[in-house]
Amino acid sequence: MLHNIQKRWLVTGAAGFIGSNLLETLLKDDQHVTGLDNFATGHRHNLSQVKKLVTARQWSRFKMVQGDIRVEKDCRRAAKGADIVLHQAALGSVPRSLKEPLQSHASNVTGFINLLEAAREAGARRFVYASSSAVYGDEEGLPKVETKIGRPLSPYAATKAMNEIYADVFGRCYGMETIGLRYFNVFGPRQDPEGAYAAVIPKWIAAMIREEPVQINGDGETSRDFCYIANVVQANLKAGTVAKTVALGQVYNVAVSERTTLNQLFEMLRERLLPRCAHLKNFKPVYRDFREGDVRHSHADISKACRLLGYKPKYDIQQGLDEALDWYLANTR
Ligand code: NAD
Repeated sequence: MLHNIQKRWLVTGAAGFIGSNLLETLLKDDQHVTGLDNFATGHRHNLSQVKKLVTARQWSRFKMVQGDIRVEKDCRRAAKGADIVLHQAALGSVPRSLKEPLQSHASNVTGFINLLEAAREAGARRFVYASSSAVYGDEEGLPKVETKIGRPLSPYAATKAMNEIYADVFGRCYGMETIGLRYFNVFGPRQDPEGAYAAVIPKWIAAMIREEPVQINGDGETSRDFCYIANVVQANLKAGTVAKTVALGQVYNVAVSERTTLNQLFEMLRERLLPRCAHLKNFKPVYRDFREGDVRHSHADISKACRLLGYKPKYDIQQGLDEALDWYLANTR
C-alpha cells in the first residue's frame, strides 16, 4: 500500500483496537513503528496477536513505549524521530465521558495537545488524528458533510471537536500538516467486547455466542454507518502520505456511506452465527430505553475523503462481518 516508501511512524493507542490494526498493516509494509500506550483500555494481547501476524524481521522494526499522553515527557520520548504520527490514543465512549468528564478531557484534550506539541518539537512532518462522527452532535441533516457540525451532545464529542480546533490552529500558527479523520462506528478484529463501554458489534456477538441477552437501546430503528477496520486503516495510510497540499489541514468523514439500523444489525449477526450457534434459531433482542447522548441517525457523505485522499472503502458492513467472523468466534469465550 505504501509503494516502498519507508518511514518512521508513531502510532499512539497502539495496544488498542484501531491502533493495533494500524500497527499490523504498517509492519507488514516494512515500516518502522513506535507505539505509545498506557494500557488504559488497550491490551498486551493485542500486541501479541500482531507479533504472530508479522515476520520476526518486521517485528524488530517496532518499539513499544509504555507511557501516558497526559505526561509531556512520555509524548516527547515517543515522538522522537517520527516522520508521521497516527494519533489514536483517547478514552472512547460517550457514556464513559458522561460519567467521568474530567478523565475524558485529560486524555482526549490535554493528552492531544501534549502529543501535538511533542510532534511539532520533534519535527514530525504529518500529524493524522482520530476525530469522531460525534462532532456532528445535534446537527440533524443527513448525510453528514464535513462543513456542517452541530453542538456536541456529550463531553466525548466536545473533546473531539476541541481536537479539530487545536489541529487547525497548529496548522495555521506553526505550519504543521494535520489531517483529522472523523470515524463512524468502526468494527473488526481486536475490538474489545468486554466492559460497560464496549461497542455494539463486539458486545452483541459476545452476548449471542454466550447465550446472554442482547439489549437494544430504543426501538432498534436508530441507524449507524458501520465501517470495517480495513477501511479505517486505508484512510490513515492515505492521510499519512497524501502529497496534495489542498488535502492538508482538513477533516474527513471515514465511513462507508451506508445506513444500517440496529434491528438490521441484529439480524445480520444472528444469521451469521446461527450455523455455529443453534441456540440463536429463535433468539430475540430485548428493547430498553434510548440512551442519553446518543444521536438517532448517523450516515456519512464520504465524497471529500474519496476526492482529496483517494479513499475508497473496500468493505461494506456485510463483507466486514464476514471477514471478521472467525476472529470473533476464536476470541470470545
Ligand atoms: P481503544 O480503546 O481500543 O484504543 C484506545 C487506546 O488508547 C487504548 O489502547 C488505550 O489504552 C490508549 N489510551 C487511552 N488513554 C491513553 C493515555 N492517556 N495515554 C496513552 N494511551 C492511552 O479504542 P479505539 O476504538 O481503537 O479508538 C481509537 C481512536 O479512535 C480513539 O481516539 C477514539 O476516540 C477514536 N474513534 C473510535 C471509533 C470507533 O468506532 N472505534 C469511532 C470514532 C472515533
